Amino acid sequence: DQRLADFDPEIHAAIRAELRRQQQTLEMIASENFAPVAAMEAQGSVLTNKYAEGYPGRRYYGGCEHVDVIERLAIDRVTELFGAEFANVQPHSGAQANASAMAALLDPGDTILGLDLAHGGHLTHGMRLNFSGRLYDVVAYHVRETDHRVDMDEVERLAVEHRPRLIVAGWSAYPQHLDFAAFRRIADLVGAYLMVDMAHFAGLVATGLHPSPIPHADVITTTTHKTLGGPRGGVILTNRADLAKKLNSAVFPGQQGGPLEHVIAAKAVAFKLAATEEFRDRQQRTLAGARILAGRLLADDVQAAGITVLTGGTQVHLVVVDLRRSDLDGQQAEDRLDAVGITVNRNAVPFDPRPPMVSSGLRIGTAALATRGFGAEQFREVADIIAGALIAAPSENRLGDLRDRVDRLALRFPLYPGM
Ligand code: PLP
Repeated sequence: DQRLADFDPEIHAAIRAELRRQQQTLEMIASENFAPVAAMEAQGSVLTNKYAEGYPGRRYYGGCEHVDVIERLAIDRVTELFGAEFANVQPHSGAQANASAMAALLDPGDTILGLDLAHGGHLTHGMRLNFSGRLYDVVAYHVRETDHRVDMDEVERLAVEHRPRLIVAGWSAYPQHLDFAAFRRIADLVGAYLMVDMAHFAGLVATGLHPSPIPHADVITTTTHKTLGGPRGGVILTNRADLAKKLNSAVFPGQQGGPLEHVIAAKAVAFKLAATEEFRDRQQRTLAGARILAGRLLADDVQAAGITVLTGGTQVHLVVVDLRRSDLDGQQAEDRLDAVGITVNRNAVPFDPRPPMVSSGLRIGTAALATRGFGAEQFREVADIIAGALIAAPSENRLGDLRDRVDRLALRFPLYPGM
């Protein structure tokens, strides 16, 4: 019954250090967020002890009466939140949700059509080394070189030519809305399933601030930890009764064993929060923050340094910074922001001349800072700090001033106070 600090001081110290890092820096990795304390309490509970293979009311283990309540609440809340008929809340992650959804719809060797990883797609949408690239025959669509928007003419052309069994619409690094109705039309034209992976923008969809894929897609997958702001995990949704059972079988026993009921409880907490006015306000500040950031990075002083913003702006929670014409590469830019206390990730941009480990882009998101309470005023300050860091001659003094400004913001918006 020893506490962590006493039994395992090394792990305890590293967790404390990570808490301090999160509190003292500004988190702008677009796929990250801060889970509510209530969700972490659920996740750190005795539910971690429970085996519950199967689904509520149909388990392969005894003693599931309480976890049944929890999983049913999670299902009811997430279907209500997104206006979907069926949900599976068991996927351990977004990748497992996608693996399960594809396993339900496809046979190995079938053709899938997804957005190229280098153009903003996700590993699970057909990358060569991923399960998706190994199990399925992958055809990739792209963004146009002229405006960096998804080329729906190419999607249609590739669909007609390759007759995929599944089209995947979704992204990890793309700052605009996708045209779900156009994807649906193309899927129908060639008799393909349409799967939308809304992992990144699910929080925006939940609050009506992004077009919903639910009416258009056969299957919708998401993570629960990005804009949705919950624990790390995945969910699958569908309106198709004929697919619901197949999807359940694909998750368990297809891809997973026992569900993580402690995580499912935390997901349920996050879905409850996502239905509130407070959460909608947060998503609005997220969007406003991304627009402010894009606007600042499109100003003359930044453009003069060869730095710009892909697609000329954003409609979502992230901005993709294009460094192809800058002396600064993605690695250097990431390091420079890290030095002033802002955490982002470098990202390949479409048609990137630099190798992926260096890259010519940054992906910068505003969801985590909005959770921290940032509004327009603070996002203007952060945007100006980022612009300053990217265009500054790398003098110690200049970066030191910017770090002081970051410290002031971090202090004014305490994260997990009292922890
Ligand atoms: N789908 C998309 C679009 C993503 O961006 C990600 C995460 O980066 C995933 C799926 C995978 O989620 P996870 O990391 O939970 O497996």
